Amino acid sequence: MAKSPEVKLAVFGRAGVGKSALVVRFLTRRFIWEYDPTLESTYRHQANIDDEAVTMEILDTAGQEDIQQKEGHMRWGDGFILVYDVTDRGSFEEVAPLRSLLEDVRRPKNVPLVLVGNKCDLEHARQVATEEGERLAAEMACAFYECSACADEGGAVAEAFHELCREVRRR
Ligand code: GDP
Ligand code: MG
Repeated sequence: MAKSPEVKLAVFGRAGVGKSALVVRFLTRRFIWEYDPTLESTYRHQANIDDEAVTMEILDTAGQEDIQQKEGHMRWGDGFILVYDVTDRGSFEEVAPLRSLLEDVRRPKNVPLVLVGNKCDLEHARQVATEEGERLAAEMACAFYECSACADEGGAVAEAFHELCREVRRR
């Protein structure tokens, strides 16, 4: 049997946006409230995407790395999930600079990525409108998902990871 392809995905975004919660939701379909925010972890995960077995290696960054560490992670990955928190405008504003850094590091290749606005269960505290996320994703020519690691009813979290795998494999 042929070895299933391996895809390296790295999750980026300001500390506190819910990167660890999203990764754990994707891997376990559960929500865990508290993670050590300084922890960086990698996970291996097997999935079937469009009837094909894929092995993912997922790097959950801490979001507090210095530039050299960030660049190292960006060289490591094949695809990237850029996460912001819909209740934290500052986290949204950090997405474009992250994207520029990615482009610089990976030039001249274009970089497979998806944009995720997390914590959409906290509608009352929202600071970033859905349309703003859509616009940014259009500028970056990538897929966009609003989701919630703690109330992932439609399965948007898994969809974001799977779409990124597809995007990587299309390149
Ligand atoms: P990270 O620093 O980006 O890894 O963020 P964490 O995954 O550690 O999450 C930061 C905080 O946000 C924790 O208190 C989580 O419980 C909370 N959190 C993460 N995702 C969600 C979400 O979708 N909805 C809500 N309400 N809280 C979330
Ligand atoms: Mg974390």
